[in-house]
Amino acid sequence: MSVPVIYSPQYQLYNFGPQHPFSPVRLEMLLDLLEHLGHPLHFVEPAQATREEVRSVHLESFVRRVEAASRGERSPDFEHYGIGTADTPIFPGMDEAARWLVGGTLTAARMVSSGQAKEVLQLGGGLHHAQKDLASGFCVYNDLSVAIRHLTQQGLRVAYIDIDVHHGDGVQWIHYDEPGVLTFSIHESGRYLYPGTGHTHEIGKADGTGRKLNIPLEPFTEDESYLEVLQMGLEPALRWFRPDVLVVQCGADAHFQDPLAEILLTTQAYAKIFPLLRQYAAAFAGGRAVYT
Ligand SMILES: [Zn+2]
Repeated sequence: MSVPVIYSPQYQLYNFGPQHPFSPVRLEMLLDLLEHLGHPLHFVEPAQATREEVRSVHLESFVRRVEAASRGERSPDFEHYGIGTADTPIFPGMDEAARWLVGGTLTAARMVSSGQAKEVLQLGGGLHHAQKDLASGFCVYNDLSVAIRHLTQQGLRVAYIDIDVHHGDGVQWIHYDEPGVLTFSIHESGRYLYPGTGHTHEIGKADGTGRKLNIPLEPFTEDESYLEVLQMGLEPALRWFRPDVLVVQCGADAHFQDPLAEILLTTQAYAKIFPLLRQYAAAFAGGRAVYT
C-alpha cells in the first residue's frame, strides 16, 4: 500500500526570495526523485490551517504581527518577534503561506488520529524553530507543534523525533512541561551551531521533566557513530514512553554536503535511518507516524 503524501502547489508560496537558502525548489526536486525511483504516490491535498489552529500554540500578539507583516505593514517591534530578520525575512503573504504548511502537517495528523492512515508523509512543514511568540531560523509558524497539539487533544501520547542537524528548539520549548509529549532531538551541538540549545541538561520541566531528550553531536560526526547513538538513545526512550504516534522532523541537513552545518552523514546513513524509524513506529507506536 502506498503511503499518502500531503502536498499542495501552495507550498511554493513559502518563499523568502532567491537569495535565501530555504528554497521551495527542494520540494519539486523531491517529487521528481520519488517519481524517478518509481514510488507510487497517493497525493492528498491539505486544508490550509485557520488562524484559530495556529493560535493553538502561538500567542495572539505574535500572530497579529505576522499578519500585519504579511499585509505589508511595518513596525519596529516586529524584531522582538523574530519577524524581518536575515534568517526569517518578511515577504508578502507570509501568514497565508505559513498556514498552508501548518495545514499540511495538521491534515497528516488528522488522517492518523482518525485512523484513515497509519503513516503519512507531509512534504512541506517541519518548521521546528518557531516558538510560541517568535519566528526563527526560516520558521514562521510551528506546524509540528500545531499537529502535536491536535494529537494530544485526541488523548494520544506523542513521541517527536527530530533528526535535523539543528536542535528542534521550538517544539521542545512549546511542549517543555507536557507529560504526554516526548521530544527527542539529535543534532550538531549548540556549542557550534544555531540555535545554540539542545544540551543534555534540557530535560523538560514540571510534569514534562525527563521527557525532553537531546543528543548533541560533535562536528564531523560520521554515519557509524551517528547511527549508534541514535539507536542507543531512541530505542529505550520509546520503549519506556510508549507513544501512540510518532511525529518525525526529517530535516536532511546533517548530510555532509549541506553547507550550513558540519555533520557528515552520507545517503547510506539516511537509507538506514528511515527503515529504523519505521521499525520503531511499528514496534512502539502501533505503526502510526507523521513524517515531515
Ligand atoms: Zn536544520
